[in-house]
Amino acid sequence: MVLNESVSALVIRRADWRDYDRIVTLLTRERGRVEAAVRGCRRPKSELMNAAEPFVCGQYQLYFNHGRFTVTQCRVTDGFYPLREDMERLTLGAAWLRLLEEVSVPEEPAGELFELALSALTYLAYSDTDQSALDLMFKLKLCLVSGFAPSADACAVCGRSARETALGFDARRGGCVCRACALQATPLGEGARRILFKAPRAPFKSVQLLSGHPDVNEALLRTNEFLDYNVARIG
Ligand SMILES: [Zn+2]
Repeated sequence: MVLNESVSALVIRRADWRDYDRIVTLLTRERGRVEAAVRGCRRPKSELMNAAEPFVCGQYQLYFNHGRFTVTQCRVTDGFYPLREDMERLTLGAAWLRLLEEVSVPEEPAGELFELALSALTYLAYSDTDQSALDLMFKLKLCLVSGFAPSADACAVCGRSARETALGFDARRGGCVCRACALQATPLGEGARRILFKAPRAPFKSVQLLSGHPDVNEALLRTNEFLDYNVARIG
């Protein structure tokens, strides 16, 4: 099969290959995760030099032959360049790229995940929104888009609602759980629980409501536990 196709893509990883080439991992809207060779991109003056840099997104022309993709052209639409001038934000962005690599799947359209990645990187690079709020919003929405969001309005085990019973948090049991189902659950404040429930279902711009919110850190701790457990299992 020979195929020539244009995709919307974000570079989530790159590795040097041979003398002048790179292999990139792309998150694409149309085909999910794609590995592709970028030939000659390390030669001075190569038109594909930027196409193989992490955080670069654009319209990529892919050529498929002999079982592998090659990037033949790229029209860059954003590189989120301010990230490179802020080590903390760059580190956070790099962690997001690793998560995107872990949850994305080859040969499956990934429109929602792609849009989420671009929204989150836009806020990270071009706004002064609090980093914890951004990290929390990105991770909760990533869970929901990937189909494994933590339960937050009812016990993940028995289904009793948060209105009927106090809920704690247990990442291994699916999120919020009642005391009858999990004695060892970590206590969870009502403010943090509401964030876990509402944030993933809200548009990304609602992240501004979380900026400076007193319960963000607690919600982020529980979300990180949840991701550590679930991403290790799907990865
Ligand atoms: Zn229960």
